[in-house]
Amino acid sequence: MNDFHKGSLEVVCGPMFSGKSEELIRRMKRVQISGKKFIIFKPALDNRYDANHVVSHDQRKLEAVITRTDTLAIKYIEDVVDKENPEVIAIDEGNFYAMEIVFMIEKWVSEGKRVLVAGLDTNFRGETFGPMGELLARADYVDKLKAICMKCKNREAVMTQRLINGLPAKRSDPTILVGGFDSYEARCRECHELLD
Ligand code: ADP
Ligand code: ZN
Repeated sequence: MNDFHKGSLEVVCGPMFSGKSEELIRRMKRVQISGKKFIIFKPALDNRYDANHVVSHDQRKLEAVITRTDTLAIKYIEDVVDKENPEVIAIDEGNFYAMEIVFMIEKWVSEGKRVLVAGLDTNFRGETFGPMGELLARADYVDKLKAICMKCKNREAVMTQRLINGLPAKRSDPTILVGGFDSYEARCRECHELLD
């Protein structure tokens, strides 16, 4: 009864600017202080500040292994973990990874590892983003962070607003735009805009 399973999955989600990276860094710094072996993975496509680190919007950072996000990349991540055998594994921007990451994480948890995934729960349309819905359902611990709405600057933001050349994105725009002039804001439900 009191023999708790060592492995666990924690998910930290929310819109952009809600403090997910900050929270991941906070938790992993504590893991570092406790002397446990850990690895942080993050996708190559999020190179907003630094190629080899997780960096929050307020410039806190920790070293990370940068990966691709497709099915083959999941295999690569598996190999890195097999080789390094960390006790704790963190994944930032989990929303960008292929669905296979879900089964990979289940395996690590069953082996007794602590796994932390931070990522956007929804895309700019308000739909489940990549594997995040599945991970939220399977998690032992879930934290849903909020930002401050960048439009009304009043309510809590639960959504990510995508702007293309300063205008709200259309529902039909691709989820991940490479090389476009798009930007993102945290918005409350009332201020969130999506063009048809
Ligand atoms: P995320 O990983 O969720 O995108 P970060 O951890 O990188 O977020 O950054 C969170 C930090 O961003 C906050 O602590 C704050 O300093 C800053 N920030 C900028 N805009 C906002 C906003 N609209 N609401 C809340 N925090 C914001
Ligand atoms: Zn608002």
